[in-house]
Amino acid sequence: MKTAAIVPGQTLGILGGGQLGKMIAIEARRMGYRVKVLDPDTACPASEVAEVVQGAWSDPTAALELAMGCDVLTLETEHVPYAVLAEIERIRPLRPSAQVLRTIQDRYDQRHFLHRHDLPQTRWANVESLAQLQAALPDIGVPAILKRRTGGYDGRAQVRIYAPDDAAAAWQALGQAPCILEAFVDFAAELSVVLARSAQGEIRFFATAENVHKQGILHTTVAPARFSQMTRARAEDLATRAAVALEIVGVLTVEFFLTRDDALLINEMAPRVHNSGHVTLGACVTSQFEQQLRAVCGLPLGSQHQHAPAAMVNLLGELWAKGEPNFMAILAEPRAHLHLYGKRVAHPGRKMGHITVLSNDTDEALEVAERLHGQLVRAAEG
Ligand code: AMP
Repeated sequence: MKTAAIVPGQTLGILGGGQLGKMIAIEARRMGYRVKVLDPDTACPASEVAEVVQGAWSDPTAALELAMGCDVLTLETEHVPYAVLAEIERIRPLRPSAQVLRTIQDRYDQRHFLHRHDLPQTRWANVESLAQLQAALPDIGVPAILKRRTGGYDGRAQVRIYAPDDAAAAWQALGQAPCILEAFVDFAAELSVVLARSAQGEIRFFATAENVHKQGILHTTVAPARFSQMTRARAEDLATRAAVALEIVGVLTVEFFLTRDDALLINEMAPRVHNSGHVTLGACVTSQFEQQLRAVCGLPLGSQHQHAPAAMVNLLGELWAKGEPNFMAILAEPRAHLHLYGKRVAHPGRKMGHITVLSNDTDEALEVAERLHGQLVRAAEG
C-alpha cells in the first residue's frame, strides 16, 4: 500500500511492547508521534511511554483494534502469525510487510530464500520426522544443531547433537515439531550488520558489530567490529543484497559467522531493530530505533555516523538474584549509559537492561563494560 509520509502528531502502532518496542516508542514520542502497542501484558516495558492494546500477537481481533487506531504499523518481533499480519495490511500500511515476515519467520523459508539468492550459509537439512533427522545426520555431520522452524529466539527451541545416538532425545526435546538441522560452525567470531531501508529503497547501514553470545544469548557487542575493512565491507555487501532481495522497508539485522578461514556465513536475519544495534543509541547520530521510525513513516533516513567506538553488555535476570542490583558503579562511570527496561519480574536469561560504553578506544570500551558487568555478577553471586 503506497502512502504519504506519516508525520509527527500521527500514530505509530507497534506489534509487541517489550524493550525493543519501548525504545522505538521513546524515539517516536520525542519526535512528537503518538504510539500504541499490542501486548498481552498491560504492564509491558512500552506501557511507560505508549498506550497498550491488550492481546496476544496471535489474536486478530486485538491486532485489528490496534490497527484501526493507528496510521502506520511496525513490529518488534517476527513471531506474529502471517494471517494476522495479512489482516492488518488490508486496512493499514504495515512495514515491514507481511510478505517479508513470511519469508523470515520460518527458518526453512528463510534458508530457502538465502539459497535462492546465492547468499552464503551453513549446510542444513529440513527435518519433519525422527527418521528424516536420522537420515540427515550422516550428511550434515556432528556436532550439529537442531532448531525448531518457528518460535525460537535467544537460543531457545534449539538443541545440540553431539553423536548420532542423541537424535531421538533432541527430536523429543523440541516437541517433535518441524525443524531444520544445521551443521555446527566452528566460528572465529560472530558479526552483525544492522541496516535500514526506506520506502524509496535508500539503504544506510550502521558499523558492522562484533558479538559474543553465551548460552545462545547475546552477551556483548562491540562496534565497529575489530576486523579488517575488507571483512566489514563484505558483510555490508551481503546484508545489502539480502535487504534488496527482501524488499524490506524498515530495519534489517543480518547475523554472520566469520569462519576460521575468513568466510562469512549468514546465521540468521531479523526484520527489526536488534540487540546488537543497541550501541547505536548514544553512539550514532541516528539510532536504530529512530531509523526504524523514519523508514516506517516514509521519512528520509538519518545519518548513521558513529561518534566513537562503543561496547554494550546485556544485563540478564540472574543479576537480580538478590533483588534490585546496585547500579551506582555504572552511574559513576562517565563513559557509561545505563538502560533498564522496567520489567517487573526477573528470571535467569531474561533481558532486563544493558550498559553501553563509549570510548576513543574499542578495546577499552569493552573492558569498561565487562568490568561494570562483572561487579554486578559478583554482587549477585557473593
Ligand atoms: P540463533 O538463535 O540461531 O541465532 O542461535 C543463537 C546462537 O547460537 C548463535 O548466535 C551462535 O552463537 C549459536 N549458534 C547457532 N547456530 C549455530 C551453528 N550452526 N553453529 C555454531 N553456533 C551456532
